[in-house]
Amino acid sequence: MHNEFIHQSRIAYFTMEIALTSGIPTYSGGLGVLAGDVMRAGADIELPLVAVSLVSRAGYFRQEIKDGRQIEHPDTWDPSKYAYPLDAKVAVSIEGREVWVRGWLYVLRGHLGGKEPVILLDTDLDENEKDDREITHLLYGGDLVYRLKQEIVLGIGGLRMLHALGFQIRQYHMNEGHSALLALELLRRDAITENGENDRLSYDIPQVRKVCNFTTHTPVEAGHDQFPYEMVQSILRDFIDLPELKMLAGEDRLNMTKLALNLSEYVNGVAMKHAEVSRQMYPGYRVHAVTNGVHPQTWTFESFAAIYDKYLPGWCHEPQLLVRVDQIPDEEVWEAHRQAKTAMISLIKNLGAKEFNPDYPIIGFARRMTAYKRPDLLFSDLERLKAIAAKYPFQIVMAGKAHPKDEGGKKLIEMLHHHLQEISPFIPSAFLPDYDMDLALTLVSGVDIWLNTPLRPLEASGTSGMKAACNGVPSLSVLDGWWLEGCIEGVTGWGIGSESSNGEDVNSLYEKLEKKVLPLYHDDRKGWISIMKNAIGKNASYFNSHRMMRRYATEAYIR
Ligand SMILES: *Cc1c(COP(=O)(O)O)cnc(C)c1O
Repeated sequence: MHNEFIHQSRIAYFTMEIALTSGIPTYSGGLGVLAGDVMRAGADIELPLVAVSLVSRAGYFRQEIKDGRQIEHPDTWDPSKYAYPLDAKVAVSIEGREVWVRGWLYVLRGHLGGKEPVILLDTDLDENEKDDREITHLLYGGDLVYRLKQEIVLGIGGLRMLHALGFQIRQYHMNEGHSALLALELLRRDAITENGENDRLSYDIPQVRKVCNFTTHTPVEAGHDQFPYEMVQSILRDFIDLPELKMLAGEDRLNMTKLALNLSEYVNGVAMKHAEVSRQMYPGYRVHAVTNGVHPQTWTFESFAAIYDKYLPGWCHEPQLLVRVDQIPDEEVWEAHRQAKTAMISLIKNLGAKEFNPDYPIIGFARRMTAYKRPDLLFSDLERLKAIAAKYPFQIVMAGKAHPKDEGGKKLIEMLHHHLQEISPFIPSAFLPDYDMDLALTLVSGVDIWLNTPLRPLEASGTSGMKAACNGVPSLSVLDGWWLEGCIEGVTGWGIGSESSNGEDVNSLYEKLEKKVLPLYHDDRKGWISIMKNAIGKNASYFNSHRMMRRYATEAYIR
């Protein structure tokens, strides 16, 4: 291992997915983008981290839309183009076989020269049998058995790899429960006796808890892996005593969230509300809140970065400086926005959709397409939507992938396709394929209003609205997740519905659009720009990854 990375002790950040750059498809959505932003902020503030993830050679998938149907293509990438192969090789035991794991080193560079190592684990080696070679191919692919094997490679293989590379780790951070087997490996490793036997009497749970941190990211069931114990036994064999494991991970099934909760002293949710919801889901655990943030430089379009550089130099390093956005003249904010909007409109045109009018507002909605995100809420009453557009013209752009096995999510994409077709003679609209980091930046900066309509309380945080704020784009969003903290009504954007119930959302959404948002855009440009500036000054200055990482450092890592 490069000496520069092992001369000081580090915090090991374990994550199933990570968004490093748009050419590396090792992410599916918000969780991976957050992991990337964690490392980018770490590099900027020179917090010594090391990320551990899977190489996911076949990626998540590339999305094509044909007549409204999502078609999935493999998104294969070549790690040797971006990362260095590492010599170290470790083995994990899967179904009684030794499965060999190697790593790739990706060096993530901050804008001031800070660097963070990212280790991408790979089982595609000659030494392994065919099936085992594919364990690290597909992100979130395959069945439950495949997932468990991946989590063995990530948690157990990852820990052994760090050791083999010579890293000194002072704290471990599990980004979601996928990597919780690392805590089990820590427990077991410390209990190995001199003659190589596992001495269960010497499991030191408090010692392991001292070095483990766990961030839970969603109240949605699918975010919490559970494996039947028969499966665990047939794959992990005698890795750990079953009674001991059941005590830590649940009686009926191996629940990765429970395992992580029981073996971590510091646990947090990703927004204040989400921490509260998690405390209800897991009574008896102390769940802190560290509200997510986004990496400002990554999520700011070049035209905005240029005016921040001019008026608020140092903003990349100290995003709090964005509170001084009033230093920037209104015309320059508007001009920066016009450039971002023009770039997006030309992309839409190149993709073959009808041309958008730059003088009319554009509503953007893009995120993973899945039921609780309710991407169809805006289309609940097409006649009413058209009537609003007749008074105050607007346009709609959407994007998002559905998980290949989420039939409901794929149906939603089809329904959106039909809705957009029906309204497009009245409301220019487009669904853009293959939502990724690049497209996300284009959309969050190019639209005028960022819409989000999740079902409460399932949006743990949400981060795309924070990216929009970096570009002066206000949110119109259901009061859930981060928006409960970020929304000042009519100042930083607008809330939909009430804090507690989902029932009023459709009506509230249409009312806000018709009476508040669209009239302000069309009739009061100065008022609109003041909202844009508030999105920057009050939200981008706070909901950024630098604040988030300083919080993790002082609350979790140093304790
Ligand atoms: C930011 C981002 C997300 C997460 O968006 P949410 O609003 O939190 O759902 C998902 N996918 C991509 C490509 C992103 O850039």
